[in-house]
Amino acid sequence: MPDWVVHVAVAWTLCRILRFKYPQLDPANTALVMVGSVFPDAIKISILFELMGLDWWDYLHAFHLPIGAFLLAGIAALLFKEKKTAFLLLSMGIITHFALDLLLIQLGNGIYLFYPISWMGFSLNLVPNDDYVITIAALLVALSVYFFSRWVEKRRLKIT
Ligand SMILES: [Zn+2]
Repeated sequence: MPDWVVHVAVAWTLCRILRFKYPQLDPANTALVMVGSVFPDAIKISILFELMGLDWWDYLHAFHLPIGAFLLAGIAALLFKEKKTAFLLLSMGIITHFALDLLLIQLGNGIYLFYPISWMGFSLNLVPNDDYVITIAALLVALSVYFFSRWVEKRRLKIT
């Protein structure tokens, strides 16, 4: 958390802005970044397992650690032809995930960024977890970037 809508919206917005400079971030590659941005929340599969009467929270919690999320990205990247690129794109998404999560007011100890080297939890404690203003703001920013990039692209077409 913040909820996956925010993670995906921020990942998309970032890619769309970076694409002005790095055309490699085409829609297909952007999709990978977006997938990566929700990887750490693979932990939420535990909710499904809980419904089936299994308590897997402790196991799946590993995904919400940078090391677990990057491992998952490494495994997922094996499915792609260009493994290195896929891994980098997924990792980019994962980094945006933890960057956003760091802003949250944490109920626990914060995020163990350097696990297993250190058990120190990090958090900036700025935003409450259930603030939907953030979701709406993230979507509005994404929408503005979308219209702006379309406008830029149209102008480019006119010039060339
Ligand atoms: Zn998270």
